Amino acid sequence: MTRTVFDCARVPGDNCSVQMVGQRDDVLRAAHDHLVSTHGMQAGDDLQQRVVRAVDEPPQRYGTWAH
Ligand SMILES: [Zn+2]
Repeated sequence: MTRTVFDCARVPGDNCSVQMVGQRDDVLRAAHDHLVSTHGMQAGDDLQQRVVRAVDEPPQRYGTWAH
């Protein structure tokens, strides 16, 4: 089982301390919903793809996060 981490503190913009750890599919879904409900981002495939790229990045600031 692969452990996937989403660290919202690494998303440029809002200061947020939320971290999600778990199975990849669960983390991807939870991170998407978190960004929509907490940060007001637009739900959909575009956001989901950004989350996918983000969790696949090395543990540093999310460089591919587009504003
Ligand atoms: Zn957050």
